[in-house]
Amino acid sequence: MRIVIIGAGIAGLVFGIRMRRRGHQVTIHERAEGIPLHGNAFMVHGEGLEMLRSLGDTNLLPGQMIDRFIMMRPNGEVIRQLDMDPWQCVKRSDLIRFLVPLFGEDNIHFGSPLSHFNYEEGKAVSAVFEDGRVEPGDIFVGADGRLSKVRETIFGETSFSDVEVNEILGLVRDPALISEAPSVFHKYQDGERGLSFGFIPYSSDELIWYIQYDVRLWPTPFETKDDIKQASFGLLQAFPDSVKAVIEKTDFETAYLWKTRDFNPLPRFHESNRVLIGDAAHLALPFTSAGTTNAIYDAQALADCLERHPDLDSAFTHYYQQRIEAVSEHLHWGRQLKHSFLHPQGQSLDALQTPLISKLTGKAESVR
Ligand SMILES: Cc1cc2nc3c(=O)[nH]c(=O)nc-3n(C[C@H](O)[C@H](O)[C@H](O)COP(=O)(O)OP(=O)(O)OC[C@H]3O[C@@H](n4cnc5c(N)ncnc54)[C@H](O)[C@@H]3O)c2cc1C
Repeated sequence: MRIVIIGAGIAGLVFGIRMRRRGHQVTIHERAEGIPLHGNAFMVHGEGLEMLRSLGDTNLLPGQMIDRFIMMRPNGEVIRQLDMDPWQCVKRSDLIRFLVPLFGEDNIHFGSPLSHFNYEEGKAVSAVFEDGRVEPGDIFVGADGRLSKVRETIFGETSFSDVEVNEILGLVRDPALISEAPSVFHKYQDGERGLSFGFIPYSSDELIWYIQYDVRLWPTPFETKDDIKQASFGLLQAFPDSVKAVIEKTDFETAYLWKTRDFNPLPRFHESNRVLIGDAAHLALPFTSAGTTNAIYDAQALADCLERHPDLDSAFTHYYQQRIEAVSEHLHWGRQLKHSFLHPQGQSLDALQTPLISKLTGKAESVR
């Protein structure tokens, strides 16, 4: 089969590796000019890691195993502690660097954003890219992320939820802080306002931190990296000195503002021979930390369904049936977490949920 993948993110690369190994002719077209190494870091669930392990030697994938979660108030009072299924915190660029050679860089066309498809009798026969390439194919896979153009060709314009929570992400080198608790995800949660600060090591030297905040707490628009820095200090005024020290050490050139949005579950993931995977197919708010693990799962599930069901429509329908329940659950759970986050007043400590999925059922981790 000739398979054309749009997007060399996590979903597109994992699916591409699987299908090439099964002997299919696969090409990826990526909008970015080179290997897309931007971004900070994310959590990958142990089950997602297992799948990566079946692709290549994950000892070559840097990252930090995280198996404990501690939630505190800004005054340092510990309000929740629990052991978790193991997750790995991985720098996005490290995961991309791990996957690209497994797929083969020569088969990726960089600087090649999708323009449109050519159709014959409702079926896409080729994809046309803005660099002028025309790629014929039997299947076209939209792995082009949350603003997916392939999704638009199937469902029209996406109706995203309003942005009520922003997330600022930063990276810091702090071996001393990490050595105190190398496998712990720490989170400070304000008890009165939608405001939290968390940090997670992704190596023995470096950690990723984030601030999640109700957009009403800092309505000033961001134009420069310095605006992100001002907002970070402004929002965390009442947080402990140890938190402010982390912010102070940050090089804000690598900091990133994420406007968090989602969209309702789609009624299907395909139309004829065009199919969606990863964020292009479903998007949950970042509270669940499930996006990357779900992208890996989609890629695996779609590859398996294509192997088991020679008829495309049947393969895509089975793929949808296999994935829709879990990803919808994560979506709804993300919305519940957002609601609790925006209305923290009067919540019992027992009602506080942890921001991590447990396996793909989408259930919260249990307290042990
Ligand atoms: C640059 C970047 C940085 C990120 N940083 C973080 C982070 O620090 N923390 C975090 O939790 N999540 C981050 N994410 C999101 C995270 O990678 C995804 O939520 C998750 O891994 C699911 O991956 P995906 O492959 O479905 O989508 P993505 O990782 O978004 O990959 C989609 C790919 O498609 C490409 N693309 C988009 N449109 C087109 C087009 N028209 N034609 C061709 N190619 C196209 C994009 O350039 C991208 O490489 C980032 C995403 C990107 C693109």
